[in-house]
Amino acid sequence: MDSMALISRAETAHELTQSELLQLLQDQHINDALFAAADRVRQKYVGPEVHLRALIEFTNICCNNCLYCGLQSQNRAITRYRMAPQEIFALAQKAVQYGYKTVVLQGGEDPFFTADILVPLLRQIKGLGLAVTLSIGERPRSDYQRFKEAGADRYLLRIETTDPALYEKYHPGMSLANRLRCLQDLKELGYETGTGVLVGLPEQTELSLARDILFFKQLGADMIGLGPFIPNPDTPLKDAPVPRLTPALKVMALARLLLPDINIPATTSMETLEAQGRFKALQSGANVIMPNITGEEERKNYALYPGKNASMPSARARRQLEAQLKAAGRPVSAGYGWHHKSR
Ligand code: SAM
Repeated sequence: MDSMALISRAETAHELTQSELLQLLQDQHINDALFAAADRVRQKYVGPEVHLRALIEFTNICCNNCLYCGLQSQNRAITRYRMAPQEIFALAQKAVQYGYKTVVLQGGEDPFFTADILVPLLRQIKGLGLAVTLSIGERPRSDYQRFKEAGADRYLLRIETTDPALYEKYHPGMSLANRLRCLQDLKELGYETGTGVLVGLPEQTELSLARDILFFKQLGADMIGLGPFIPNPDTPLKDAPVPRLTPALKVMALARLLLPDINIPATTSMETLEAQGRFKALQSGANVIMPNITGEEERKNYALYPGKNASMPSARARRQLEAQLKAAGRPVSAGYGWHHKSR
């Protein structure tokens, strides 16, 4: 079928086969039509509102060695930090003052933050009336269960790539099977579960991206956060070519067509790669922004890739962002921004 016809069918049926996804990923003449269709689907299912989630990057200590990531354990070029639970709580209080309804606690896989440390902190933060998203990597199911019982609402765990050969190559000592097990556990335990991929990894093919998109649908993801891979000079992938934004926007737009009512952030890596990347994402299917409220010193060292984290963690920065969004016809939501399933 002609690509334009595929887009209009997907806009109403929300289905595409692997070969149809591949065709749309490869066809560079339909990009604007694809972005416009994803924008209409976003408007129809989740409306104009943008949900803001306050991001707290509370530790950059990580026992994993993902080859693309600046936090990888073998990187000696960054200063490692770990915030104390009470510092994390103080930032959550700030999030409330700034007007946020959700905090996202993200970090490397830091063995200090056992369930015994995190459970009381989660209970304390939940006492502030916030929704809590965790993004702290692979854990045993029993930990996920304890976090859920303590009030955690959502969990972000990107699959990064569903391609078994690429996964093994870029994640030494880790396994795709365990990452899939984690995502399955999170779904079963009732989390709003987010996943996503890196787009533009060396040797990643469009076929592999088509399979990633089908995986999002098969999992029944509640959120999809994806972005371009940006080479980090302190990692083994430092010499990889810098990708363009368009392929990541296309994967995101296709995810919106297939999962019309989910939450999709305009990610920091999109903004880092291209000026106005965040606004382009918001016009191509995205409906969430995660402003970083971590202190300046820590943010500097949460160096996943170069150029990350320019935004200021203040109430004024939030007001500016709200005004910009409003001017673009995208008011900031006053609610929690849950995933309301429409189908
Ligand atoms: N440790 C947790 C995990 O594995 O889910 C959360 C922290 S991890 C640093 C957050 C995300 O950063 C990863 O899922 C990965 O996709 C992204 N990331 C790491 N290095 C990157 C790079 N060079 N370019 C773009 N994104 C990157």
